[in-house]
Amino acid sequence: MELRIKNLSKTYANGVVALDNVSLTIPAGMFGLLGPNGAGKSTLMRTLATLQECDSGSVFFGDLDVLDDKDEIRRLLGYLPQDFGVYPKVTAYEMLDHFAVLKGLSNRARRREVVDGLLQQTNLFDVRNQRLGGFSGGMRQRFGIAQALLGDPKLIIVDEPTAGLDPQERVRFHNLLSDIGEDRTVILSTHIVSDVADLCANMAIINKGKLMVAGATQQLIDDV
Ligand code: ADP
Ligand code: ADP
Repeated sequence: MELRIKNLSKTYANGVVALDNVSLTIPAGMFGLLGPNGAGKSTLMRTLATLQECDSGSVFFGDLDVLDDKDEIRRLLGYLPQDFGVYPKVTAYEMLDHFAVLKGLSNRARRREVVDGLLQQTNLFDVRNQRLGGFSGGMRQRFGIAQALLGDPKLIIVDEPTAGLDPQERVRFHNLLSDIGEDRTVILSTHIVSDVADLCANMAIINKGKLMVAGATQQLIDDV
């Protein structure tokens, strides 16, 4: 489903203009939001994830008013924040099982099926009984995706997911993202151009809170 952002603006209390009248339509599939540090990417991602208020503007996901119908959009949303924390002493299985309960999956057998499926999809089944504190950066990011996928969200937002991953883990993570982007709207926020070039059919560049350019990735690369 398409996400339509219109005239979104946000100025922080310190006077920093993080989003300056951003209008952008994000089609289904993998979408790359590219920009340098401080561009306003996280502000935009948090606003779309209903975790932060903007000053003005509107966002629609299909017919759904994202900034207004917060409960509804949260049911449809998977969000993987930048630098998300994990409970170090809990195993991957236990943590996903716990989140599945919170998502309303009360049936034990069904929950096991869902959690095992997510562990397999993210290549973490073999380490499901290891504690999260011992996970590498790449394992942790894949765990974050498993967590974000609980409840089968139609809109997934991932903020700077490949920062700090080694090349092998990056490839693994890319494969996982292409896999989940097939029948969903996935927004990948990053400052790494090749993340977008490798994965995203469509993209936008923001800088200093302003939308610089948006369109088909191949087209934009060819134009440079
Ligand atoms: P990005 O994710 O692209 O690095 P951010 O959205 O984090 O960009 O930040 C955009 C701008 O807003 C930066 O100049 C940043 O310093 C500023 N900023 C971010 N969060 C806050 C905040 N809570 N209070 C004040 N300024 C902020
Ligand atoms: P011009 O207005 O001269 O065309 P732009 O600022 O629109 O210049 O940018 C030209 C190209 O530079 C863009 O198509 C994009 O590939 C790249 N670019 C612009 N801004 C950024 C940015 N913030 N981060 C990364 N690349 C950028």
